[in-house]
Amino acid sequence: MAIQSIVRCENYDQETLDAAVTRHFETLNVKELLHPGIRVLIKPNLIAPKKPEAAATTHPNLIRAAANWLRQSGVENIVLADSPGGLYTAPVLDHLYTVVGYQPLSDVLTLNRDVSFQSVSCPEGYVNRSFNLISPLPQADLIIDMPKLKTHAMTRLSAGIKNMFGSIPGLQKPEMHYRHPDIEDFSLMLCELCRLTAPTVTLMDAIDCMEGDGPTGGNPRHLGLTLASRDVFSQDWFAATLCGMNPEDVAMLRIAKEKGWLQPDEIIQVGDEPVFADPPFVLPKTSSIDFTGSLPAFLRKPARAVMGKVLKPFPKLNKDRCVGCGKCAESCPAHIIRIENHKAVFTKKGCISCFCCQEMCPMKAISVKRHI
Ligand code: SF4
Ligand code: SF4
Repeated sequence: MAIQSIVRCENYDQETLDAAVTRHFETLNVKELLHPGIRVLIKPNLIAPKKPEAAATTHPNLIRAAANWLRQSGVENIVLADSPGGLYTAPVLDHLYTVVGYQPLSDVLTLNRDVSFQSVSCPEGYVNRSFNLISPLPQADLIIDMPKLKTHAMTRLSAGIKNMFGSIPGLQKPEMHYRHPDIEDFSLMLCELCRLTAPTVTLMDAIDCMEGDGPTGGNPRHLGLTLASRDVFSQDWFAATLCGMNPEDVAMLRIAKEKGWLQPDEIIQVGDEPVFADPPFVLPKTSSIDFTGSLPAFLRKPARAVMGKVLKPFPKLNKDRCVGCGKCAESCPAHIIRIENHKAVFTKKGCISCFCCQEMCPMKAISVKRHI
């Protein structure tokens, strides 16, 4: 049984959010998890230097509401940490904290500037037997996963499970894409990483979400909800239905269900009536005409290999928008982008269609192209 707490919030007014978090945490009995001296880590979505109104990052006021509740409950050691896309250095983190509006949160929590990482073993891992995690994660006693609800060019949904990918330091994330170019393998890796990091509570910002070419290049979409659960897999399943997606079309969720890591029939809704997106969220242009999710597991890879030849999406550059900043080249796991004459140049051979380049482009200069 997974309790799904739902509280409607039409905007990011601080008092409203403080009250919402109190309702969520009382419903989930979070107080029973606290003890003197506990170290709490808040893991937001800090993907890129985008202002809160772009709806790409977790809103600072919801983070403040969580920190306020923790402090009122006697918790003193609260750290906010995430590894964004691109480089993971203290100056990069400082820049991001400023742009996304997290700097003022330093009166209620500590903004992480430690960019070390630790190898943590994952003995039951199918695709990875160990993961390198940013140091504040393994050092924490309790993790609050705070995703932003978004569509995603590669994984279709970005919520609680995908948010934990930010546990991997800096440019090791594109390496993971390169090691697992197939969406099923990549999604299984994400599920295993999420199980390893094991967020205790997932508090989701689903007030102003993102639809279309997420996780950074889409458009804001108002849903007006905050969600919380102690079961991140079940909550992501529920969130996918709110967006109007079939959760079985999200490889992470299909895999988690097949592995027995979530039971959709056992989700109990508590709190306000949920809001279902009508019309459904616009999906990213990369969303393939992919029917392989309905095939038996052993047929999916070969089917995708055949389909991929004709349906595989590739990045396409809008030269007029490109400013030659090189962020796409920096994040490309296949190293097939170079900068010439202040413009990005792509080599199609070797592209694994991960769309890290599109995710990191600050100018929305990269779109999606298909052969047909
Ligand atoms: S495509 Fe985007 S990320 Fe790449 S160099 Fe041009 S502006 Fe920068
Ligand atoms: S060019 Fe873009 S989509 Fe292709 S491998 Fe590089 S980052 Fe991924």
